[in-house]
Amino acid sequence: MTASGLQWLEDRIDQVDGLSVLRALSELNAYRLEGPQLLVQALGLWIDYLGVDVVSVQFLEDRLWREALTLAWSPEHQQVEIPLKKTPFWKCFRKLSAEMVQAQSVVRRTPLSAGDQPGGSALMLPLGGDQGLLGAIFLYHARADFFTPAHERLGAIFANFLAQAIVTNRLVRHMHEEVDQRVAAMDALMQETLELKKKYEQLSFVDELTQLYNRRFFFQEAKLALARDTRNDAPFSLIMLDVDHFKRINDRYGHSTGDEVLRCISDFLRASVRETDILSRFGGEEFALALPGTDCSGARRVAQMLLDGVRRLPCRTGKGELVRITISLGLACRTSLEYLNGETDLERLLHNADLALYAAKEGGRDQCCAYEEMTHCPL
Ligand code: GH3
Ligand code: MG
Ligand code: MG
Repeated sequence: MTASGLQWLEDRIDQVDGLSVLRALSELNAYRLEGPQLLVQALGLWIDYLGVDVVSVQFLEDRLWREALTLAWSPEHQQVEIPLKKTPFWKCFRKLSAEMVQAQSVVRRTPLSAGDQPGGSALMLPLGGDQGLLGAIFLYHARADFFTPAHERLGAIFANFLAQAIVTNRLVRHMHEEVDQRVAAMDALMQETLELKKKYEQLSFVDELTQLYNRRFFFQEAKLALARDTRNDAPFSLIMLDVDHFKRINDRYGHSTGDEVLRCISDFLRASVRETDILSRFGGEEFALALPGTDCSGARRVAQMLLDGVRRLPCRTGKGELVRITISLGLACRTSLEYLNGETDLERLLHNADLALYAAKEGGRDQCCAYEEMTHCPL
């Protein structure tokens, strides 16, 4: 074959390989691949299809070259990743890239000039995007006559394709990050809302001053407990409790001492009742205590214990002055309500406990009355 015939054949082979490179490049999914994967697969095509020795992508950021990826052909592993900066090609890259930036076009050196170590031939392709020069692709082969005008043409198209893919990939990554950030912000907001909801649910059942359950919670829980005890034919008692002459305490020591006294009584009550009892601040200086599973005599003992305990409570004013406190209690128990015939009627029980409380107040305060026939007054 003649020299020109050989050249023609080489050109055809180059064209076929070049088209394969472009087809393979166009098949890379810039949407799916992570940035580094995209580069590995794209640059690898130059080694796989065209047999170059080194291919490198360097990005130009703030006029500084940042190495993105360099692949070199290796007899054992086909391709290996190397840092171009630490190879003899770096100087050559700097020189050619300066020329490429200057000329704003492809630079081909076949062969590399004597000063451009380490010999062989090189091709430098500008990697252009809409926003200007993104970086450069550097191609090297140890053979001095390796790169041809066909490589130059193919390289220009390849660089264009790759630049597009990189821009698309960056946009997609950016969008993913933004979506992730928004999802995280929404998750945080949702969590905050749930916590707030929980807090407000809790708040709506808890009295702020005393941290006891409030009237609403009392009705809900006491109704359930009474229904349970009625079904099981178990006893159930209720005590209404009111601070005596509380108005006088407020008048004498001030409202904030009044508040302190309410907290002091509440802490005592909370510490005195059983876990299963339902204690609540019913309003102002009035408390309700439901005693599931407790009969009249048990409830009387509880009432007496509270009566005695409050008398001895060491509640003090801000100045340390001891405040004398007494309470009156009204008691009603389910077993005494024969007309209920096993029916659950918390309101009726509360009403009776209230009547007993009224009787305790009428009887001189600092005492407990039981509704049961109203004869047990004081206990
Ligand atoms: P009685 O022995 O008949 O129960 O007399 P009392 O003074 O305790 O009853 P009265 O109903 O006349 O007054 C209750 C007072 O409790 C009036 C109200 O201002 C006061 N009070 C209600 N809630 C609070 C509170 O949260 N803090 C304070 N400091 N006072 C309260
Ligand atoms: Mg009172
Ligand atoms: Mg009252």
